[in-house]
Amino acid sequence: MFENLQERLGAILNGLTGRGALSEADVSAALREVRRALIEADVALDVVRSFTDRVREKAVGAEVLKSVKPGQMVVKIVHDELVEMLGAEGETIDLNAPAPVVVMMVGLQGSGKTTTTGKVAKRLSERQGKKVLMASLDTRRPAAQEQLRQIGEQVSVATLPIVANQGPVDIAKRAVQAAKLGGHDLVILDTAGRTHIDEPLMAEMADIKRTSNPHEILLVADSLTGQDAVNLAKSFDERVGITGLVLTRMDGDGRGGAALSMRAVTGKPIKLIGVGEKMDALEEFHPKRIADRILGMGDIVSLVEKAAETIDQEKAAAMAKKMQAGKFDLNDLADQLAQMQKMGGMGGIMGMMPGMGKMKDQLSAAGLDDKMFGRQIAIIQSMTPKERSNPDLLKHSRKKRIAAGSGTDAVQINKLLKMHRQMADMMKAMGGKGKKGGMMRGMM
Ligand code: GDP
Ligand code: MG
Repeated sequence: MFENLQERLGAILNGLTGRGALSEADVSAALREVRRALIEADVALDVVRSFTDRVREKAVGAEVLKSVKPGQMVVKIVHDELVEMLGAEGETIDLNAPAPVVVMMVGLQGSGKTTTTGKVAKRLSERQGKKVLMASLDTRRPAAQEQLRQIGEQVSVATLPIVANQGPVDIAKRAVQAAKLGGHDLVILDTAGRTHIDEPLMAEMADIKRTSNPHEILLVADSLTGQDAVNLAKSFDERVGITGLVLTRMDGDGRGGAALSMRAVTGKPIKLIGVGEKMDALEEFHPKRIADRILGMGDIVSLVEKAAETIDQEKAAAMAKKMQAGKFDLNDLADQLAQMQKMGGMGGIMGMMPGMGKMKDQLSAAGLDDKMFGRQIAIIQSMTPKERSNPDLLKHSRKKRIAAGSGTDAVQINKLLKMHRQMADMMKAMGGKGKKGGMMRGMM
């Protein structure tokens, strides 16, 4: 499948050799193949349509980087858009609530709810030292509660004692009560599924939700779900309200199209993926990996990334020269800020480091958040070219004009100018020895 697409695209990519901006024709030709790739990856048709529309809008008129072909450029734009649509990296189960935090697993029969319950329990108890209680609310399948009990034994996590002839809502109540009494940090409710969505199932889920007040409701879905993914996610979200998605069987040959569909219709984050039957076959979700998989064109993407890097390197070299000459103006600062935004802003940078959630909150309390980059870039963009290369021109009246133009105020402008002055001084002191990374560190 992968090779075929490469071959098909290869011809088109080679055919498009224009330079400069991407034309409507370039984009359409490449998008035709991309659309096929998405459909083959089982992305729902509606989602494919709205997705390709968005890409078309972004791609037509976009500059083609030196040393790449227009078709390759389109693929890169498609890839970036996929990553964006798939959502943020590093989303995890949110346990930020009074104990016992209730986590409820919902989904169709066989989607992997019970297995995922065990995997999540194992991970949280082993890695975070959480005291976890698991409870099976599946009274429909005779062996279901016993299945979870055995998993509990296997991963050394407590399960709620089985009591005969109790309905799911009563079991849920009992589980929350037991977790409270037992001093558990969290309780995971493993619910029953059906082979398809029906009203009794939804009503049961809604009842369980009402009585147990879960902090997280995770829709567990098989990544091979295909075109049904949209209906599945929509129904569960509309009827029960989900807080996140877990995609199972990502170890199989599915291409992850369901991830995109479900994320697109619900807007809910994909929090974890299952990659096998074993109890530790659970991974964090990496949008870039899934995008590669859906598109099956990872090498084209890295090719274009390399081309973009080369340009960044050329820019960095030019900047080093300016620094040596003691010239680092606001244009350069704007470039730096844009670079940081490209790295995913504060969230992206912090998201790459585990356990940084708290620090992120502190930073944002200090006003050092993603909006900061955008604000600072807006301030610089509101300046005239002369002002940008000579910030000394910026007296009171000019600042007023810039504040109005960028929707900021004099305090924020002064802050930016001060930061720029400090950076420029620092660079002068470094005498051009500094590298890009050093500058960014200096800023933070
Ligand atoms: P439930 O009906 O939703 O509770 O589904 P189960 O948890 O009982 O899982 C059904 C089957 O899928 C079991 O055989 C699991 O071992 C298997 N399974 C669950 N998650 C994964 C996964 O990520 N990868 C693979 N290969 N199998 C899985
Ligand atoms: Mg089950």
